[in-house]
Parts: sequence; structure tokens; C-alpha cells
Amino acid sequence: MPLAPFDSSLSDDERVLVEAARDFARSELLPLDRKWDEDETSVVGILPQLADMGLMNLCLPPEVNGLGCSYRAYAAILHEIAWASPSTMVTLSVHNMVGCILDACAREPQRTEWLSTWGSAESLAAFALTEANAGSDAAAVRATAAPTEGGYLANGEKMWITNGMHARWFLTLLRVPGRDAKASLTAFLIDGRQPGIERTHIHGKMGIRGSETAVISLTDVFIPQDHVVGELGEGLKVLLTTLNEGRIGIATQASGIAEACLDEMTAYARERVQFGQPIGNFQAVGNMIADSAVELEAAKVLIWNAATHVDRGVKLPAASSMAKLYATEAANRIAYRAVQVHGGSGYVREFRVEQLYRDARVTTIYEGTSEVQRIVIGRGL
Ligand SMILES: Cc1cc2nc3c(=O)[nH]c(=O)nc-3n(C[C@H](O)[C@H](O)[C@H](O)COP(=O)(O)OP(=O)(O)OC[C@H]3O[C@@H](n4cnc5c(N)ncnc54)[C@H](O)[C@@H]3O)c2cc1C
Repeated sequence: MPLAPFDSSLSDDERVLVEAARDFARSELLPLDRKWDEDETSVVGILPQLADMGLMNLCLPPEVNGLGCSYRAYAAILHEIAWASPSTMVTLSVHNMVGCILDACAREPQRTEWLSTWGSAESLAAFALTEANAGSDAAAVRATAAPTEGGYLANGEKMWITNGMHARWFLTLLRVPGRDAKASLTAFLIDGRQPGIERTHIHGKMGIRGSETAVISLTDVFIPQDHVVGELGEGLKVLLTTLNEGRIGIATQASGIAEACLDEMTAYARERVQFGQPIGNFQAVGNMIADSAVELEAAKVLIWNAATHVDRGVKLPAASSMAKLYATEAANRIAYRAVQVHGGSGYVREFRVEQLYRDARVTTIYEGTSEVQRIVIGRGL
């Protein structure tokens, strides 16, 4: 089932795009995703096709060659991609999110210059906030940007960076020395072609194994003065305000995974016969399917609600956090049940639920853990 409710207000063009994404995801991405999971190879090979479909600049305005999609359409598209390939979905979601941050916060003429090529595979972007000692506590970052002639020199190390191996652009948070602690945190856009950047692939992930995750070491990397994004000292605001909207993206990754799990468990419950009848006839199995369907529906409603707020310009961080918290926790419960319905078959790679169970796990961790979402919701109240 699509993410959008029946009476949704998507335009005809948006609906066509959601359908196209769905068809492409199911026919092309699904088989690739199974292979990426097995070999731990990166999704980047498929980027030119994603770019051709317009999936790399979905929400940017037409004046910078973007498709100008509403956030609801964006969420509906990501849901379809995640159904087939959670790894491709997070690659796209991070890239699109960085584009939205630059659209909102970068100064002209850089904004137009950067964003007019955002839809191409070569423009792949990463969001480089986390460090070894700065995870949930983003304000603890230690990497620095020291003023030099014409700009800054960046030094330090960023951890767990999605798209890190191939990104052309890194939106990052660095500390400018000589300013007091909070007023030193500044957002910068680093050109990945600058010398001094070392990328190390983090291997051995439990799930989303087609998505690149890297450690990014910065040694005297030059950042031109006009690559400051937003105001000096306001970096945390730049990154965290928009990260809030990005969280809806991860919620749709979870809803897509949950939908795939529900489809798999329903099909299996119809086919698998025990005690002379399909196991779906047993109430205990039917209950697992029913609970999963209800939780998935609730997750979709929360996502739609949060995306609608974004489209209407209503700043309500708690709405995105509610969607992210609920959808990701529900996806993990649903993936657990999907394996349970499959019995022993759910425990081996041949059946897709084994992978979905692993892929679901990270959704409660990145772009703010469930515990952090609860803090945001509690504070909002
Ligand atoms: C596959 C993957 C991809 C990622 N991609 C990116 C990326 O592209 N860019 C990026 O910047 N980062 C990325 N991350 C990092 C991710 O955002 C962090 O892992 C996450 O924010 C948690 O930080 P941490 O791992 O340091 O855990 P910690 O912050 O050390 O948390 C450990 C535990 O303590 C809990 N905890 C911490 N503080 C509190 C508190 N105040 N109250 C209650 N509980 C608390 C947490 O909820 C968690 O359960 C990625 C991570 C992974 C695994």
C-alpha cells in the first residue's frame, strides 16, 4: 500500500513520480539490494539512474533544476524506495536532506551554484556531524576550522558518515577556535575534491549493507570563506533544525521496511501449511499480522502528519520526532513478527525477512536515537 492516504493532496505529477519510483524500486532495486546485502557492495552504481529519474533533487525548487515536490510527495517516494531497498533509500534521503539545508541556509551566489547541479550523480552529498565522542551530544564536536587566508583549514575526524566514500560534498559542523564554546560551532560545506580528506569504509554493518558508511579524516582541508553555511557560530541551529525534517525521511525508511515485512509475512502465512491448513488460519498468526497492519497504519498517519506540517511551514519538531520514534520502533516489532511467522525459514538469507530484520535495526539509532526523540517530544510538551 502507498504511504499517501486516499484523499491525499498530491498533485498529478507527484502521483506519477510516486508510481514511477514504486515500479523502478520493485523491478530494478529489489534484486540489486539483495546482492548489495550479500556482497556489501555500494549502491553508488545505480546513482546515474536515480539521477535520471529526478530522485536526487526532489524537493529543491525548479529555479535550481529541482522537481519542487512537496514534503508529502517526498515521503511517499522514499517509502516506495525503502520497500525495495533501504540502502538506496538512506543514500537518497541524506543527499536530498543536505540539498534542502543548503536551499534554506546557504547564501547566494553559492546556493544557486551548488544546487543547480544537485540532481546529478556526481553531486552526491554527505551529512558529516557525528564524531567518535560526539554522537547524541552533537554539541561536543571537536573537529576544527581554523581561520586562514581566504577561508579556513579543517582538521579532525567524522564518524559513521553515510555516502562518505563517494560524496562530492560534505555538510559538516566544525569548531572555529578563538570563539567561546557554543558560538564556535559553524556549518561548512566541504568540497570532497580538496586535498587532505581521507575516507575509510566501515565494513561489517548488520544491515543496510549497500549504504556506504565511512570515517572521514580531515587534515588541513581548505574551505573557502564563502563555504560557511548560515552564520558563524550558528552551525548547530543550521544542522539540527533541518535534521528535524530529515527525521521524517528515516521514518519513511522504517515504514517502507515495515510494509515489506507485512507483505512477506502475509504471503507466507497464506502459503505455509501446518496441521493441514495455511498457518494464517491460526489466530496467533493472524494476530501478528493484524497488530503489524495497525502499527504500520499508525506510523503512516504520523509521517503524513509531520510531512504536512513541513509543507505548511509549521515548525513542530515534536511531530517529526513522533513519526520517527513510532515508525522506527514499530518497524522493528513488525520485522520481529515477520521472522516469527516464517519460523525457521525466517532465520536464513534465502527469505527476505532475514535481511529486513537486520535493515530495520539501525532506524532507531541514526538521525537521533529513540531516546533522543523522546527528549525532543518531552521538551516540546
Ligand atoms: C549506519 C549508520 C549511519 C550513520 N550515518 C550518519 C551520517 O550520515 N552522518 C552523521 O553525522 N552520523 C551518522 N550516524 C551516526 C548516528 O547518528 C549516531 O550513531 C547516533 O546519533 C547515536 O550516536 P552514538 O552512536 O554516538 O551513540 P551515543 O550517543 O553514545 O548513545 C548510546 C546510547 O545512549 C543513549 N543516550 C545518549 N544520550 C542520552 C540522553 N541524553 N538521554 C538518554 N539516552 C541517551 C542513546 O540513546 C543510545 O541508546 C550513522 C550511524 C550509523 C550506525
